Amino acid sequence: MTRCEEQLRLVTDYGAAVAAYYAAITRLEQGMISGSREIYAQLRWATEEARMQCETARKALDDHGKEHGCGRLTDRDPWRVSSSVGELG
Ligand SMILES: [Zn+2]
Repeated sequence: MTRCEEQLRLVTDYGAAVAAYYAAITRLEQGMISGSREIYAQLRWATEEARMQCETARKALDDHGKEHGCGRLTDRDPWRVSSSVGELG
């Protein structure tokens, strides 16, 4: 499989989005511990934003792979790992 620079960039973006999502989940868990509804609501929103960023990045990667025919992620898709985190709250 040939590596495409654009794909590599999109994979990096996607990885960063997933990392940000994990960080948001960690903060959300801490917010739950804090017991403040206000903090929790804010963090919940931030987590949702981060999740959408992941989806946008994944879609960009997917679309590029389809259009450019440079292949797509099958193994080691970080999204699969993050999906197993499941629904919070
Ligand atoms: Zn490509």
